[in-house]
Amino acid sequence: MSAFSDWQGKANDIIIGVASDHGGLPKKQLLLPALQKKGIKVVDLGPCTLDPEDDYTDFAVKTVQALRQQSITCGILICRSGVGMSIAANRFHGIRAALCDTPKKAQLSRSHNASNILVTGGDNMSDTDFMATVDAWLATPFSYEERHIRRLRKAETLTYDPNAALSAVDPEIAAIMAREQDRQNRSLELIASENFASAAVRAAAGSVMTNKYAEGYPGKRYYNGCVHVDEAESLAIARACKLFGAEAANVQAHSGSQANMGAYFAVLNPGDTVLAMRLDHGGHLTHGHGVNFSGRTYNFVGYGVSPETEMLDYDEIARLAYENKPRLILAGASAYPRTIDFARLRAIADEVGALLMVDMAHIAGLVAAGIHPSPVPYCDIVTSTTHKTLRGPRGGLILAKADLMKKINSQIFPGIQGGPLMHIIAAKAVCFHEALQPSFAAYQRQLVKNAACLASELQNRGFRIVSGGTDNHLMLVDLRPKGVTGKASATALDKADITVNMNLIPFDPEKPFITSGVRIGTPAVTTRGMKEPEMRDIARLIAKVIDNINDEAIYGAVREEVALLTARFPMPEFVSEWDD
Ligand SMILES: *Cc1c(COP(=O)(O)O)cnc(C)c1O
Repeated sequence: MSAFSDWQGKANDIIIGVASDHGGLPKKQLLLPALQKKGIKVVDLGPCTLDPEDDYTDFAVKTVQALRQQSITCGILICRSGVGMSIAANRFHGIRAALCDTPKKAQLSRSHNASNILVTGGDNMSDTDFMATVDAWLATPFSYEERHIRRLRKAETLTYDPNAALSAVDPEIAAIMAREQDRQNRSLELIASENFASAAVRAAAGSVMTNKYAEGYPGKRYYNGCVHVDEAESLAIARACKLFGAEAANVQAHSGSQANMGAYFAVLNPGDTVLAMRLDHGGHLTHGHGVNFSGRTYNFVGYGVSPETEMLDYDEIARLAYENKPRLILAGASAYPRTIDFARLRAIADEVGALLMVDMAHIAGLVAAGIHPSPVPYCDIVTSTTHKTLRGPRGGLILAKADLMKKINSQIFPGIQGGPLMHIIAAKAVCFHEALQPSFAAYQRQLVKNAACLASELQNRGFRIVSGGTDNHLMLVDLRPKGVTGKASATALDKADITVNMNLIPFDPEKPFITSGVRIGTPAVTTRGMKEPEMRDIARLIAKVIDNINDEAIYGAVREEVALLTARFPMPEFVSEWDD
């Protein structure tokens, strides 16, 4: 509802909705004709009979709905104590229901609080006091003072109950979601690809934008009624370009995988050779795995890390490039803890006449904040997800020069997708906006510091960290010094409410479903506000589980410690609401 618009003390232009509980019915019957006699339009929103079975909530909600639909200008609720109706009415966005039993309070509720519902008429009020309170309320305009507007805005934007409709319609799913929220809240989320999107991002992702079909691109749609989704998509594109210093962006890719597919389709023919990071050294499924469309469609040749340093060996990449003459060199990874040298990769690509593409899915947040060098100046195409370190909704993103983007756009739609997910695109726009704020860079700096701290604390406790440390948000932990596998460790940690994933380490002797390692990342715990002292706690708790992996009683003790730790850092419902 629009901000504080009301009747400014001129009761003649307004329509008042009046409702009561059964106890308030006599006063309602007094009020309605009195208002009508003054020439004020009123709507009786019930009840009409004295039925003790009536629930006051129903009449409060009826009034609220009328107000939200703007079929009334304001509402008066008459109730024995007024408390229940106030509670019910104030659960709704845009409602400011004021419980007043004197003309003075009624005036203040208007001038300071822009109340749009008056709750009054309690058992102890005389009819005279009741009428005087209503008259004072109707006659007082909102002051529009800056301090009052500021305070009311906070009340409007810091309250949010996204699940109310869901609980009413589908209690089963609502209960599942409540359990998932509880799990997220209670546990230590250390999966490197996960994060907690802000309430603003989730509000956009759960919005009316999901209702719109918009095949095509802004200004060139196959459907009508796209004015506003065009605005949202154009804004998302402009913000993505600003955030990453790119010439053009596609924000329609449903996921990171589809961003990669669209990019490949734009520049490759089936059978073309692509040089990409080996999956067992940290690459991604869509970088040429045999079961994935990428590996089935193109001839992927893998490069890896050096056995000595466990870091990318650029001389080896150059050698493979000369040997295989790829059409495309692809960089980016799902489990590589070190900075990637994009300038060097560009030089190699130029030497062999290859295109360069970087999939920055994992590090996009770091790149946005200027903590990891940007691939954008060096690449023909940059793809990403928006939900990892970038902390937006689940989705994909493609950046390129404007001329190549035309080709990429047509491969995303109509090439591989139909209608874009306009709610997700709106949420991406919110994500980019948040990532453009100074607080986002501060968050990224902290998550990198946290990862470095956690890695060194784990080292101190006898774990081997692949490549000796981390430059970014994640680390690979080699568990062989502890004599346990990745699978056993991840399962044990899960029972202690510490969530990580098993992961192959370079040159891993174990199979992919067992592994010698786990991958650990700090994006989600840093979003909760955790810093170095908590990283030390986390390292201690991880070691406690792994060092006692056969003692299930320890899991329970750690789980309790985890609960105490996470309780001090509640889920960020309002990650970036107030910083700009
Ligand atoms: C996560 C990831 C993807 C895939 O993203 P989805 O949205 O899950 O399809 C692609 N590339 C890399 C490097 C990733 O880490």
